[in-house]
Amino acid sequence: MTWLTLCVSGQCQLPANRGQLAAAVCGLPAASVLTKPPSAEMSEQWIVPLETGSRDLQPLLGGKGVGLSEMLRLGIPTLPGFVITTEAWKTHKPGSRSLVSGLWKQIEAALSRLEEETGTEFGSPSNPLIVSVRSSPLISMPGQLKTVLNVGLNAEVAESLARASENPSYAYEALARLVQMYAEAVHRVPKLALSASSGGDGEDKAVERPLAQPDPQELLSSVTELLATYRDEIGEGFPSDPYPQLERSIAAVFDSWFSDHAAEYRAFHHIPDDLGTAVIVQRMAFGNLETHSGSGVVFTRSPTTGERGLYGEYLPRSQGEQLVAGLATPGDISDLAREMPDVYDQLDAICSRLEIFHRDVQDIEFTIEKGKLWILQTRAAKRTPVAAVKVAVNLADEGLISRAEAVRRVEPVVLDGLAGAVLVDPSGAETVAHGIQSSPGAATGRVAFNRGQVKALVAERSPVILVTEETSADDAAIMPLVSGILTQHGGATSHAAVVARGLGKPCVVGCERMEIDRDREVVRFGDLVVAAGEEISIDGTTGRAFRGRVELVSGLAQDSSELRRLLEWSDELSRLKVLADAGTSAEIEMVLGWCTEGVGLCRTERLYYDSAFLSIFRRSLMTDSAAGRKLALKELGLLHQAEYRGILRAARGHRLTVRLLDAPLDHFLPERDTLLTELAELRLLHGWNEEIGQREEMLQAVDAWRQSCPRQSLRGAGLASAAPDVIEAQVESLFTALCHLEDEELPDDLRILVPFVSRAEEMEYLLTLIDGAAEKMRKSAGKSISYSVGAAIETPRAAVAAGELAAQVDFLCIDTDGVTETASRFSPGDGERFSREGPGSLIQLALDRARAARPDVEVGVYGRYCQDRQAIDLFDEWGLDFVCCHPSYLLKVRLMAGQEAGDE
Ligand code: ADP
Ligand code: MG
Repeated sequence: MTWLTLCVSGQCQLPANRGQLAAAVCGLPAASVLTKPPSAEMSEQWIVPLETGSRDLQPLLGGKGVGLSEMLRLGIPTLPGFVITTEAWKTHKPGSRSLVSGLWKQIEAALSRLEEETGTEFGSPSNPLIVSVRSSPLISMPGQLKTVLNVGLNAEVAESLARASENPSYAYEALARLVQMYAEAVHRVPKLALSASSGGDGEDKAVERPLAQPDPQELLSSVTELLATYRDEIGEGFPSDPYPQLERSIAAVFDSWFSDHAAEYRAFHHIPDDLGTAVIVQRMAFGNLETHSGSGVVFTRSPTTGERGLYGEYLPRSQGEQLVAGLATPGDISDLAREMPDVYDQLDAICSRLEIFHRDVQDIEFTIEKGKLWILQTRAAKRTPVAAVKVAVNLADEGLISRAEAVRRVEPVVLDGLAGAVLVDPSGAETVAHGIQSSPGAATGRVAFNRGQVKALVAERSPVILVTEETSADDAAIMPLVSGILTQHGGATSHAAVVARGLGKPCVVGCERMEIDRDREVVRFGDLVVAAGEEISIDGTTGRAFRGRVELVSGLAQDSSELRRLLEWSDELSRLKVLADAGTSAEIEMVLGWCTEGVGLCRTERLYYDSAFLSIFRRSLMTDSAAGRKLALKELGLLHQAEYRGILRAARGHRLTVRLLDAPLDHFLPERDTLLTELAELRLLHGWNEEIGQREEMLQAVDAWRQSCPRQSLRGAGLASAAPDVIEAQVESLFTALCHLEDEELPDDLRILVPFVSRAEEMEYLLTLIDGAAEKMRKSAGKSISYSVGAAIETPRAAVAAGELAAQVDFLCIDTDGVTETASRFSPGDGERFSREGPGSLIQLALDRARAARPDVEVGVYGRYCQDRQAIDLFDEWGLDFVCCHPSYLLKVRLMAGQEAGDE
């Protein structure tokens, strides 16, 4: 295989080369090895000690491995250990319990170096080396791969540790955890239960409720029983020899890459299946040793709001994995500040260093063993959309990253999440439980307790709230499907919370008051019983659960000064101007709050479809008297003026592009088939009467319009040629509205867009018509009107004519959807993806011809493709001037446009 295939685009630095790996392994300066040709021996180096790892080796060491190596270099307290590379993973035969012998030899050698370094001995009862076996994939897959803690323990070692400790129970607890994790990782037997003697009802109390101090004797006897259960369930004894424990644990972590849920996770996050995982073998720190021990997770800033300051959780006398898996509900990190202020200060200082080093918010796992702090992991924190924006802007303000990088740091899709739902009236909803707020936003949905119920409800298109004790890696595939998540246990750093935040789903965790009865398929909130399929609501912003359905609204109203600043930085970088489409005055006001460039498309069809206007418009089309028609159009024009005044005023001080009537004329005419049916019925009933006469006239009028353009519907410029008075009336009423407004109430750049133009002659005619209307206005009202005129390119014919059109008009606007539909019978909605060769080709053709004819002509695009990353990418590359998108994509597109430009 080539070394290049190790690198996933954008996720890692340069691919490692053999020279650097050899240098890391042998402790030589990289340059001295780099010059030598890679030899076969060197390629078989599968172990990298943590102290020699570096970022260049990321594809080999995985994210966690590199993070630990860097921390060691920075002098941050990190437990010693070594990494077995992703190259070694490739030698592993899936399902095999042993490792290839060459690899195992290297591991044994690395282990003895670790023994030397730590002054301990693997398997020794008096002074044992005890290690964890951890996964380390290139791209973090939280909770998906296996971990085995406490490898190297057995009954004898545990007993000797217990004797030497003031807290004998910790050693038995640790052994119990090893047996359980080993059974789960190696034999896939989940949750092997500790017996009742350790705390009733067969539940794993000693391990899952670490604060209770179990009696060591009781614990010892339940561990003995656990070992017996292990033998019964698995059919062989738990290996007391630490070497097979280690080998099989490593093989099991390698294998966990292939589990179904890990594969689903990769598919969802587009992680290639052949990357594999590195494995870390690292000395254990015992967070469950005594009361000055514990474990926790901290974020250097709030992953929910982005607020500065340590945010996280701490659980005294525990091994960290209980916390990460959401098995126990921890206390706040401030507990640590109270209990061990020095350790807290040290942690605080380390957090700042790591944040500065990585130039990003970190999610840090730590363990305290007898008052000594160890950092177990650091990685970029998953965060909510609100936090993503705030953090990026704050980091730039603090000088840690540039503004361009801040713009690049925020995934455009997260801006969609900013429009998440919020409760209309929280006081009106009946709270049934309080939990920990862990991912903001509100959701209403039907209760589902398991995968099957979620899938069934989703199939019925019902919104679903997943209600469960805690979530695990197995739930990763259904979590994207639900509207919200409510768990009984776990804190804000539990699996459920972390995944929900990443997905932007509302989530409430640690709702200890609720009880789930899986046999009856109900959840009890005190006296209130809610069955699967019934509705509840949650608010992840406040951490509450509510009875039944609550009313929700979109949250885009929440103003964020950071978001505004980020978008301004993006606009400064961007070459493409981003405009929005908006039709009513209210929409224009709303859009201009978020779009400094203005309105790129104001459709006017609405003014004709509206029931109040339609009957008058219809009258104008159906009458055969010229005077009657003129009268009707005048009446309509007067009514439209009020609308235009509102539109113009809403766009004051901005650019406003009004598109002339674009719908096919027969949309406004009575349906021919309906008329025929009505006529037949009336004739049967009456023979002849006045109504029949009216219908016949209508039918004649409809047919007359159809014949004037038999093949294509009459629309756009074609409509203007067939019924110039309709378009004239429209332009006149727009101009009259304009004359009635004060100058400061007007847009500063009024544009008129002529739709559906195909030929230069058509455009010539329209220009005369528009200029004529303006001239008339100047004469009658004594006011000169400033405006510019553009042509909309919606057909291949128009794309071909773009050069001639460019010579006539002030700007061109290409309708990506129109061009695609008329050229290929596909539309963006039919799944026709934007590409250079497909929908892009006609756009490029039109642009090239326009620019060749008139280099300075302004050319932009509108349509559904304008929210598509690939399309924005090409529009930027081709040098289009503007893109006009639907208001719901405005924020995202502004950000994408800045990212494209900032990328170079
Ligand atoms: P994940 O891939 O799920 O993040 P980790 O490798 O981080 O798994 O292990 C899970 C937890 O196990 C860690 O959060 C940490 O608390 C605990 N752990 C792992 N290795 C050690 C160790 N050497 N000493 C103490 N705790 C450890
Ligand atoms: Mg971890």
